[in-house]
Amino acid sequence: MKLLADVPHGTKVLLHICCAPDASYGVPAMRERFDVTGFFYNPNIHPGEEFRKRALATLELREKSPFPLVMESGGEQAWEEAVRGLEGEPERGRRCEACIRLRLRETARKAAELGMPAFGTVLTVSPKKDAAMVNRVGREEEERAGVRFVAADMKKGDGYLRSVRITRELGIYRQRYCGCRFSLT
Ligand code: SF4
Repeated sequence: MKLLADVPHGTKVLLHICCAPDASYGVPAMRERFDVTGFFYNPNIHPGEEFRKRALATLELREKSPFPLVMESGGEQAWEEAVRGLEGEPERGRRCEACIRLRLRETARKAAELGMPAFGTVLTVSPKKDAAMVNRVGREEEERAGVRFVAADMKKGDGYLRSVRITRELGIYRQRYCGCRFSLT
């Protein structure tokens, strides 16, 4: 993981979790520096059965490799509104930016609600995610919420390969598509 933010060691960080595979590497990597609580919030995931699978996989990861975790459901309507008109965008395009912004905005809001001074995300573990875009969105939401964003590129230093190894060892479910119905095809 390459850390791109000057946030003091030991800071309480609410860390957005998109899925158990990315969290399997991202959570312990961030816990080496920060006081991390995971935050599963993903109204993008379709269909409902897949949402349940990913939520259960995250709970299973927490059981096998314990860390504090907050699960939040809902937000589907807000997600539909955020991506309206962007349905035909390619992956990594404007629809993905809107989707990531919605999830990071809620993470920042939740961090403020919980009295935590910083937030981050494990999204950049995936080689399919544009770390520069994720970090730009995070920094914009940092300004909006008044909570620090811990910018990072977690795929650096073999973060993705390590996540593959950890989930295989722990027997954790790995999804085959990003999450929304547009990424199913
Ligand atoms: S492809 Fe992934 S990041 Fe992009 S809109 Fe769909 S779920 Fe969100």
